[in-house]
Amino acid sequence: MTYQDITATGRRTGTTSPYGGRSAAPVPPPGLPRRGPGGRRALAALFWLGLVAAVLPWWLDTPAGSLSGTTDLLTAAGRITGLVAGYLLLVQVLMMSRVGALERWVGGERLSRLHRDLGATLLVAVLAHLSLIVVGYAGLERKSLFGEVGSLLGNYEDMVSAFVAAGIMLVVGLTGIRAIRTVLPYELWYHLHLTSYAALLLGFGHQFSNGAQLFEPGPVRTGWIAGYLLVLAALVWGRVLAPLHFNLRHRLQVADVVAESPDTISIYLTGRRLNQIDMLGGQYFRWRFLNVGGWWQSHPFSLSAAANGRWLRLTVKVVGTHTADLRDLRPGTRVWAEGPSGTFTAAHRTRERALLIAGGSGIAPLRAMLEELPPGAALIYRARNPADVLMHQELDWLAQARQTSVWYVIGSRNDPGPRQVMSPEGLRRLVPDVTRRDVYLCGPAGLVDEAVRALRRTGVPRRQIHLATFEL
Ligand SMILES: Cc1cc2nc3c(=O)[nH]c(=O)nc-3n(C[C@H](O)[C@H](O)[C@H](O)COP(=O)(O)OP(=O)(O)OC[C@H]3O[C@@H](n4cnc5c(N)ncnc54)[C@H](O)[C@@H]3O)c2cc1C
Repeated sequence: MTYQDITATGRRTGTTSPYGGRSAAPVPPPGLPRRGPGGRRALAALFWLGLVAAVLPWWLDTPAGSLSGTTDLLTAAGRITGLVAGYLLLVQVLMMSRVGALERWVGGERLSRLHRDLGATLLVAVLAHLSLIVVGYAGLERKSLFGEVGSLLGNYEDMVSAFVAAGIMLVVGLTGIRAIRTVLPYELWYHLHLTSYAALLLGFGHQFSNGAQLFEPGPVRTGWIAGYLLVLAALVWGRVLAPLHFNLRHRLQVADVVAESPDTISIYLTGRRLNQIDMLGGQYFRWRFLNVGGWWQSHPFSLSAAANGRWLRLTVKVVGTHTADLRDLRPGTRVWAEGPSGTFTAAHRTRERALLIAGGSGIAPLRAMLEELPPGAALIYRARNPADVLMHQELDWLAQARQTSVWYVIGSRNDPGPRQVMSPEGLRRLVPDVTRRDVYLCGPAGLVDEAVRALRRTGVPRRQIHLATFEL
């Protein structure tokens, strides 16, 4: 297969509608407000300030020169890591509260990445806290390590629940390791993660009954409790009240399920006041289909068409049991949605023009985004076989209507054609101004990693590269 055979620019065939023949209300193209990194930077500054504020009481309570021996130092390190762990646990839960401001400024995918990275730090802090305190106290009380653990469990209030909390966090932390995460079904992983709330509750008491800085009533103790209440309020708002309001207002239900390919379907949804949903192409919702087998599962899927006032659409590749069941959805099935989430949108670009690179079902969010990008965008769509190209006719229509260049790059990653296209020279040849564009990548992790490497070698700055790997 030659280079020319595998590429096609802006072909127009088949349907003359961007919506596969469906009508949509004439919604004026949104004058997309650009969403810069200001909010994100402010949140990062708040995070570091919070960390300093969490450790400051220990610093102020510890007179200079009071840490004379090894046991003193170990105990002090145990207390500091305890304060850090307590703070990080609150931040971890806050990041998953799905409060609108966090989702808008940081984005669900980035929050999840941060949550995963911070989770590892939290686990290290918890284990360090536990071991340093045991070793430090054993030294102070002249006991063996086992004797000290027994003494902590038997003589100190709330310590049994604190040990259980540490155990839960260890299990949850281990499921965050990529190799373990990818072999677990999404739902099992998700429900295991929900037990982190139990860790929050179980770990709460020992901080106040035994924590040197939090034991005494005063501003430090009050501030720490206020932190807990704030996180609790964010959880109730983001996880309960805001979704309740959204779903009562829009009452989404399945309108139609359409096969896009043997293993991919599009689900069309209708509802009330759809033109009032503040959503952007490239964003995703967590969807819960309220039928017998589906109501207890909530899975993330991106919008595959931009807002049009009449219906929403998601395009789903069958990869496991839940996605397989979605093929049998009946029109009229009620849908509970949480979102929109994500900063993988045209509004978050830094340059006027964009290059989109999609692999497989990764075309879904990019297809929606294409309607909101200014004319002149370019799309490279990687697929193994011509049959794997989804929404081909819609893309061809958009190529024409939105003056978008579309290249279908067919073949396995080792075929000469795709290899050449996904090289710095190939990218530059297709899109000569690639370094002056924002690049949006969505697809399997392998394709995304390979494309990032090629783009970086081409000279595209990191801040212009936006990633979505469908992994939370
Ligand atoms: C932000 C976000 C947006 C998403 N948008 C879309 C979308 O628009 N369209 C879409 O089809 N999917 C999308 N996904 C992926 C989708 O959520 C999962 O495919 C789905 O939850 C799998 O559920 P399951 O029970 O069928 O499979 P599971 O039992 O959870 O997984 C079955 C197997 O498939 C693997 N797997 C899971 N997801 C994928 C995947 N995307 N590609 C290849 N293998 C996978 C798992 O590792 C596992 O081995 C998105 C994911 C995220 C995080």
